[in-house]
Amino acid sequence: MSEGDESGDPTDGGTDLTADGDVDGSGGAAADEGDRFTPADRVDAVPPSGIRAFFEVAESREDVISLGVGEPDFTAPWPARSAAIESLERGRTSYTANRGKPKLRREIARHVRRYDLEYDPDEEVLVTTGASEAVDLAFRALVDPGDVVALPTPTYVSYEPGVTFAGGEPLAVPTYHEDDWSLTPEALLAAGADEADVLVLCYPNNPTGATMSRAELSAVADFCREYDLVVVSDEIYAALTYGDEHVSIATLPGMRERTVVVNGFSKAYAMTGLRLGYALAPPTASAAMTKVHQYAMLSAPTTAQHAAVAALRRCEDDVREMRREYDRRRRYLTTRLRELGLAVAEPRGAFYAFPRVAEVAPDGDDEAFAETLLEETGVAAVPGGAFGDGGAGHLRLSYATGMDELKEATRRLETFLAER
Ligand code: PMP
Repeated sequence: MSEGDESGDPTDGGTDLTADGDVDGSGGAAADEGDRFTPADRVDAVPPSGIRAFFEVAESREDVISLGVGEPDFTAPWPARSAAIESLERGRTSYTANRGKPKLRREIARHVRRYDLEYDPDEEVLVTTGASEAVDLAFRALVDPGDVVALPTPTYVSYEPGVTFAGGEPLAVPTYHEDDWSLTPEALLAAGADEADVLVLCYPNNPTGATMSRAELSAVADFCREYDLVVVSDEIYAALTYGDEHVSIATLPGMRERTVVVNGFSKAYAMTGLRLGYALAPPTASAAMTKVHQYAMLSAPTTAQHAAVAALRRCEDDVREMRREYDRRRRYLTTRLRELGLAVAEPRGAFYAFPRVAEVAPDGDDEAFAETLLEETGVAAVPGGAFGDGGAGHLRLSYATGMDELKEATRRLETFLAER
């Protein structure tokens, strides 16, 4: 397994911190020895990660090629690393302002203008511990107990637990392979999202790689205005959009005042371990989120903030280079999958392909398919059902993996499919 597989992200194939809180992988032995704790009901309500056991098998093998992880195989570019090192050499080891270093907030405000987003660095930009914290803060600061939060599926698996932890009611809104996984007002209405309070968007999407065009987003924006939903828009893959420009829903008429935009440094700058993200939101939402952040976190990691300033100022070429490489792999992988007879919606962003395997899987079961694939070939991929019901019958393949590994993985997949 590559270094990336040691990721602590339970949602993306990590194994050392699982969604059921089993940090050391001991299977919760301490609980059996009679400690006196009972998890809070809202924590108990969240089922354990369905993919943990699967990745334990993956870890136990030597020859595994993992297309399972959701983190870049690149290392953070040198300008960002040097800035972090230099900040430590200079002894910059204190907290920063709660909202983040003013210099970084100004850089973020400047940076997001490329997406036509205009935010005041003092009142509307909040620097967080990863995009993860920004999403969590949005739920904790803006969702009241019983509020309904619409989650288009398949989607990144942290949202639903986050909503539950915040006391909200998650509402799945299925999207479909046949529609290239795009979200429509019809799908929202069919799922009852007209009664929802919040809509979470994730485009470019994890796990499907789908993006939304301006016209598609406009239709969703109309729906949000008509039924008075606010939006949490996780745009962490914005910089990894291939071909088309990234459109943020916050730039559409009447949407800025009802949208929290989330972004971060993990994906575009390959800075997952530095844990830095940000939220852009109008003053009321930003202040509420800052209040929770201030008490829960004080401030985001200082060293990472120094790295982030350099990332925004001096790593443009590195990002372009990484995007070019992902694009090359994306085209290779989708072409190969189609050659092997698997239907796959064109991934237009992020670093995932989401082929349909229902027809070649035993009983159409993606989990059984992924397990057999791993056992027989050593290729690890995440079963699509892990991303919500809408993902069942599919497989998430990450191409944040070297080209040679991709070639070998698809070669093994070819042999595997030929034997079905
Ligand atoms: N949102 C999405 C859609 C993601 O895929 C991930 C990472 N797997 C995150 C948020 C978390 O990012 P961060 O490392 O910035 O917390």
